[in-house]
Amino acid sequence: MHDGPMPDGPMHDEPVHDVAVVGAGPVGVLLAAALAQRGIDVVVLEKRTQAHRHSRAIGIHPPSLVVLERLEVLDEIVAAGVRIDRGVLRIHGRERARLEFASTGARHPFVVTLPQLATERILRARLADLAPDALRTGVDVRRVEREAASVRLHLGGGFASVRARVVVGADGPSGVVASALGLSAAGRSYPHRYLMGDFADTTGDSAVAVLHLHPRGIVESFPLPGGQRRWVTHLPAGVGVERADAALLAQLIAERIAPEAAPDPATATMSSGFGVRRRILPRMASGDGRLVVIGDAAHEVSPIGGQGMNLGWLDADALAERMPALLAGLDSPQQGGVSPLGDLGRTRLRSARAAARISEFNMAMGRPTSAAGFALRRAVIATTALPPLRRSLARAFTMHGR
Ligand SMILES: Cc1cc2nc3c(=O)[nH]c(=O)nc-3n(C[C@H](O)[C@H](O)[C@H](O)COP(=O)(O)OP(=O)(O)OC[C@H]3O[C@@H](n4cnc5c(N)ncnc54)[C@H](O)[C@@H]3O)c2cc1C
Repeated sequence: MHDGPMPDGPMHDEPVHDVAVVGAGPVGVLLAAALAQRGIDVVVLEKRTQAHRHSRAIGIHPPSLVVLERLEVLDEIVAAGVRIDRGVLRIHGRERARLEFASTGARHPFVVTLPQLATERILRARLADLAPDALRTGVDVRRVEREAASVRLHLGGGFASVRARVVVGADGPSGVVASALGLSAAGRSYPHRYLMGDFADTTGDSAVAVLHLHPRGIVESFPLPGGQRRWVTHLPAGVGVERADAALLAQLIAERIAPEAAPDPATATMSSGFGVRRRILPRMASGDGRLVVIGDAAHEVSPIGGQGMNLGWLDADALAERMPALLAGLDSPQQGGVSPLGDLGRTRLRSARAAARISEFNMAMGRPTSAAGFALRRAVIATTALPPLRRSLARAFTMHGR
């Protein structure tokens, strides 16, 4: 693996690769590994040379577990993470609803929590096994140029260019590949701000995910490996994310659950504030399939709901499955205007819209509200205790059928 900055100097006379992936986040690396597993020649270009400072995603949902199983990394992911079989909802310390993931009927009916940084390490190691030279870091793709039978990626930092028959943008929101496609997203930014942090777990809740509903804002807590727990809460209006630190998070948890429930700020390994955006592109590929975008490059959904990385992996899995046929058909005329990627864009964007709706529901249930608003939420929660709805909710929260 070329995992380190590229040596100085331009790349000359490189052969045209089958696929070049822009971006080595979790989605780009998983796609590259899935392509390499199918014997497809792939290169991944990543501008960063260092990992992100914070782990963002922690929840890995049942459909992704199937994808990770195909990639032969499921056992490692499950061994490194925490297996969650249920989620509970509490109001003032009392359990009001419970979702059992076994009821979803999924092949792997549980959620695994693992910090994104650890997940990315496992995926990069798998890619290195399958295609040792595929990953190139310190390479910034500046411009995408269509040529007759390939796509040329112009690179910054003194590197010349890389050519590939298909280019996939897994380069995050507002990436260079979506721009080359001429696509901009319909979207919105929400006024709400959240604060998250990882602390030593003293809750006694072990492997259960817990949502604490409170009129001043929801508090969520999820188990993490190594005896830690991730806490997330809604920031009070007027408090900017720059004030978001472990002490403030512990204080809000004490106010909204109980003083003894608050984690010790001295044990925090990470805390940060974040805002929420929703943006979904109108399509994911050029008509001939030579330019494709996946993951956050195609759809960004609120982290409240925890499905963004999973959505991207499911895009990558669907694209990898179609890639051999796409490559085989690239140089022959298209049959009656039929897209070489079939219904990939339609189904994957539908899935992103469903994830966005789930996170909107979560955000709506977790915002500060009046006494009357909170009474209404309690009534909604009471209906979720009914078995048929409980099963549907467990399925929706674990991305069943995506
Ligand atoms: C607080 C928070 C919590 C979250 N929790 C969850 C969760 O529990 N579950 C979940 O599923 N999702 C969660 N998410 C969402 C998840 O983190 C993202 O959906 C995921 O990182 C998207 O992966 P990606 O590979 O598509 O994009 P990114 O992770 O954004 O990776 C894109 C990569 O492309 C590189 N790049 C960009 N432009 C170029 C260029 N021109 N040239 C070369 N390289 C380039 C970037 O450096 C980056 O490494 C959370 C997000 C946040 C903010």
